[in-house]
Amino acid sequence: MKVGILALQGGVVEHANLLQQAGAQPVAVRLPAHLDGLDALILPGGESTTIGKLAVRFGLLEPLRRFAAARPVWGTCAGMILLARNTGTAPPLLAAMDITVQRNAFGRQADSFVMAITVPALEDGLRRPFPAVFIRAPQIVAANGTAQIIARLADGTAVAARQGRLLATAFHPELTGDDRFHRYFLEISAKMKENGQPPRINRTSAGENR
Ligand code: GLN
Repeated sequence: MKVGILALQGGVVEHANLLQQAGAQPVAVRLPAHLDGLDALILPGGESTTIGKLAVRFGLLEPLRRFAAARPVWGTCAGMILLARNTGTAPPLLAAMDITVQRNAFGRQADSFVMAITVPALEDGLRRPFPAVFIRAPQIVAANGTAQIIARLADGTAVAARQGRLLATAFHPELTGDDRFHRYFLEISAKMKENGQPPRINRTSAGENR
């Protein structure tokens, strides 16, 4: 499986390492041609305004939009903001996923923190919590259409969502060494490659959309 990582700014190397650990081949994406032949794409964390501006400058905006309209894409943190259809304030970038996000939603007191969260969709997810690293993280304020929340904090805050082949996490699974989110995304991507359909969202009990 060849998985691109948008490599304009942010946590690229960490994603590449975990993709390799999970058995995939990472490819750095800096130019439109780098998207050719990819099975899936990761939009990493970083600074969403900066990544957005660079994407425009490198002529990547339309190619990324086309890619996200057809192939598996996973946005982590800033990447989730880039993927969202509604970002509250800034104009949306890829506008691919039916989620509404709020930037820097945890405020200054909680600049960064780690929290063990239950993610039923992951392998062993009900028994083995996932160590979620939040760094000036956004929140998902609404999942619309067919998008579903797949992980919440104990207080109900939505921090991960899936819509078919699209995945969004407010936190940074690439910083943990736990590759279950990467394997989950590869599972979705493999199914898309095999039969053009993402797998159903199963093993989930993260609650209703709100
Ligand atoms: N706060 C950043 C933004 O709005 C995201 C932070 C991150 O990706 N760790 O772009």
